[in-house]
Amino acid sequence: MSVLVYTESENGNFKKSAFEVASYATEVAKQLGTTATAVSFNSNENESLGDYGISKVLHISNDSLKTFNANAYALAVVQAAKQEGATTIIVSSSADTKYMAPLLAAALEAGYVPNVVAAPESTSPFTVKRTAFSNKGFAHTQIHTDHKVIGVSNNSFGIHENKTEVSIEDLLISLKDGSFGTKSVEIDKVIGKATIADAEIVVSAGRGLKGPENWGIIEELADVLGAATACSKPVSDLGWRPHGEHVGQTGKPVASNLYIAIGISGAIQHLAGVSSSKIKVVINTDPEAPFFKAADYGIVGDAFEVVPALIEKLKEFKAQNA
Ligand SMILES: Cc1cc2nc3c(=O)[nH]c(=O)nc-3n(C[C@H](O)[C@H](O)[C@H](O)COP(=O)(O)OP(=O)(O)OC[C@H]3O[C@@H](n4cnc5c(N)ncnc54)[C@H](O)[C@@H]3O)c2cc1C
Repeated sequence: MSVLVYTESENGNFKKSAFEVASYATEVAKQLGTTATAVSFNSNENESLGDYGISKVLHISNDSLKTFNANAYALAVVQAAKQEGATTIIVSSSADTKYMAPLLAAALEAGYVPNVVAAPESTSPFTVKRTAFSNKGFAHTQIHTDHKVIGVSNNSFGIHENKTEVSIEDLLISLKDGSFGTKSVEIDKVIGKATIADAEIVVSAGRGLKGPENWGIIEELADVLGAATACSKPVSDLGWRPHGEHVGQTGKPVASNLYIAIGISGAIQHLAGVSSSKIKVVINTDPEAPFFKAADYGIVGDAFEVVPALIEKLKEFKAQNA
């Protein structure tokens, strides 16, 4: 009765979150005195999960599951759980997984807790710590059902190496057309850039940038740092930036190691999406901007002077340390 973990991948490569949930599942398995088994979809890197304590991978190789589908993925994970006799299922708290996990929980009659930020505090009763009130507090939540689904917040538990011998087994799943519910017929995606969900560094800008024609300095700073770009809600509402970049309570959550907020006031709805970021740097002309209260480092200054100066210094630093 191992702990089962769903590991997300894209184009055959695991996402960073896969190694974090694998590490988390290993810890839960240790607490429960069992082993951790992963379920993966069309991955080319199954062996790598052994680096994080996974002793068995159930690998699903299926062309119809090349792109994520909440219904079909949930059915496949249910099948894996049944085969393994697993009652504790670990997933990430990514946007995709938040569509899938409730379906999984309903099928298994499981209690589901998303946004979990630490290893279980107790396994009897099973108690986990999760963020609450848009990341402004924590809830210590008990799960009383036999089956449990735990969604781990990105960049919260961390990735922990734990080299383990891993066996890979193919898992054949039976899906019908009706198993999919919906089908993505085309996906338009920005390629070659770090995504907000996986990025170590996010450079984000707000209405202080005055207009879309000024985003060149934001893009350049992001390029120098190998960062993803993001923005505040009004910026995407105004059509200055794509909606996929909008961060906050009604947008994407960011759990990067470094979040640089430029010309963003720091409204509570924006802060709700970035409070899981480890270090926050704020650049704003207004010393009273609320974001400074949440910042680790702040620069009171004009973005149009500070950002180009920062880019120049970073380029110099990179050239000297190449
Ligand atoms: C229900 C609801 C949900 C919402 N959800 C979200 C959400 O998910 N995400 C989100 O972001 N917002 C959200 N909002 C909107 C939120 O309340 C704020 O209005 C929004 O975050 C403000 O965006 P901003 O900081 O870019 O703009 P502003 O509030 O206009 O701030 C611009 C900032 O730029 C600074 N500035 C101006 N010029 C410069 C310069 N040259 N250099 C440096 N700094 C400069 C100013 O001092 C100011 O602090 C939501 C609102 C509601 C009601």
